[in-house]
Amino acid sequence: MGTDGCCCRFNWKQVGDIALGRPHLGPMMHLAVYRLMQYTLREMICREYGHDKASDLLRTAGLRAGEEFCANMLNCSQDFNGFIAELQEKLRELGVGILRIEKADLEQMNFTLTVGEDLDCSGLPVTGAAVCEYDEGFIAGVLGRYTGKAFAAKEVDCWATGDRTCRFSVTLADQVGDNGN
Ligand SMILES: [Zn+2]
Repeated sequence: MGTDGCCCRFNWKQVGDIALGRPHLGPMMHLAVYRLMQYTLREMICREYGHDKASDLLRTAGLRAGEEFCANMLNCSQDFNGFIAELQEKLRELGVGILRIEKADLEQMNFTLTVGEDLDCSGLPVTGAAVCEYDEGFIAGVLGRYTGKAFAAKEVDCWATGDRTCRFSVTLADQVGDNGN
């Protein structure tokens, strides 16, 4: 994508020294504030570039986030089960969501994952359209960084489509289309 030369390229240092900077408030904030930021940012990107481009940009931002999250917060040198266990623990601890693996085919590299109580959508009005593009990218980024392969994740169920948990179908990026996406 040519983002390497971008002056705004994300650096983990931008997470900052939270203990130093927020001695009284600490690392937590209200989820409403996160959603306020996400959905106003989405509105502005959508107004400027249209709905499909906004979805794409949120997804690629999520991908970057997933890669960096994996590189900086997870141990990539452990086996798959250990890695997933650590990922589940971290996502719960950070309040991202409750990750479950419904299906894992390590030979084909196909996965079905669910995220309960997802930070992006749980409790939103049901509109019939899935809204977790950022999560799609995030999941693809985490698995991509861990395996060294390019993944694509597609949200097939979402709180916003009337489901109680988000469900993601994850395949290798070059297999997209093989399973009806
Ligand atoms: Zn969702």
